[in-house]
Amino acid sequence: MRNILSARVRNKHILFRADYNVPIKNGTVTNDKRIRATIPTLKKLLARGATLVIASHLGRPEGKKRAEFSLAPVARRLEKLLGKKVEFLPDCTGSAIERAVATSKNRIILLENLRFHPEEEHNDAHFAKQLARLANIYCNDAFGVSHRAHASVHAITRHLPSFAGPLLLNEITMLSALKKPKRPFIAVLGGAKVSDKIQLIEQLSKKADAVLIGGAMMFTFLAAAGNETGTSKTEKDYVPLARKLLRTKKINIPTDVVLDNKKTVSVHALPKNRAGLDIGPETRELYSAIIARAKTVFWNGPLGLFEKKPFDAGTLAIARAIAHGKKVSIIGGGDSVAAIEKLGLAKKFTHLSTGGGAALEFIEGKTLPGIAALHKNKPKRADKRA
Ligand code: ADP
Ligand code: MG
Repeated sequence: MRNILSARVRNKHILFRADYNVPIKNGTVTNDKRIRATIPTLKKLLARGATLVIASHLGRPEGKKRAEFSLAPVARRLEKLLGKKVEFLPDCTGSAIERAVATSKNRIILLENLRFHPEEEHNDAHFAKQLARLANIYCNDAFGVSHRAHASVHAITRHLPSFAGPLLLNEITMLSALKKPKRPFIAVLGGAKVSDKIQLIEQLSKKADAVLIGGAMMFTFLAAAGNETGTSKTEKDYVPLARKLLRTKKINIPTDVVLDNKKTVSVHALPKNRAGLDIGPETRELYSAIIARAKTVFWNGPLGLFEKKPFDAGTLAIARAIAHGKKVSIIGGGDSVAAIEKLGLAKKFTHLSTGGGAALEFIEGKTLPGIAALHKNKPKRADKRA
């Protein structure tokens, strides 16, 4: 994969695939972290004489033009952060857009939401070709969508010399640290469901020295170990799989839980009419002691219902344990990263992946279509044109 920052970009139009899928309320961006992250790269490329044609998706408009999913608020925020005019175009393909882009030189253009066209998610070849008409070079800096074969990350690479952006390359470097981890390597897995994360749990129970289970998914494991789980979120269909995983001896399950009435009980004494919402204090200590010996930690999924006090205590305790001392700490998953930011601990970790599902698939060892496509795009052809 070639870095866009090593490409010759003077007088070139770059179709820059960014991940500007940011939260918006009443027409204002409420968290601009993802926009900020791209600013240094955009500035460098502009300084080198490129024209930036930025493309992104926002939310799930399902192939229809819907005002609440417009990228217009992103254009305004981008303009502020760059301190430069950003031309916002009301679509991403078509002859009017092609004309507007062609007459622009050394400027910044933001195209309207790619997902207003159903062809984007269908990886449509014709749509990709139309996008390609807007530029001479393509750059993917949207790691978070690279696990999808969508036109703007996959089909597009057949039509333009293709490069990787620094954010995407950094994600790959950071997450690759888990391929040959310094040991002990401990995985902490929580979050909503076993069914969401089967492959992740299976992979990590092979690779890690120990897997610590928390979150709602702990109840499927606790049931597999023969415990009553009351009204806690338990996935009955996944109990046999959990039982099989427990036999690997790598999986650690909680010894106590905090109930919805805020009382702590042993996992052997969970009442039928109660739900568990967090790992208990004894479990926090046991897990923290294991984490203290780790050289590498991967964490995905809050340990409890962290959005609601006091059920954030387990997540907070584990976050502190991971942040403490010298170790490589990699956090993945949308809610996990949000939990850490809410707790004000973001700076304490080696890497917070913005990748969400893409990061989890990468760690599971899957091939990500968007990244595979960048590998395939041959340098020879690129050098001729770029
Ligand atoms: P991520 O997005 O980091 O991969 P998930 O989406 O799998 O994480 O799970 C996050 C959600 O799981 C959070 O909303 C959290 O409140 C919920 N959760 C964690 N533990 C429990 C629990 N014991 N009961 C109910 N919900 C829980
Ligand atoms: Mg989530």
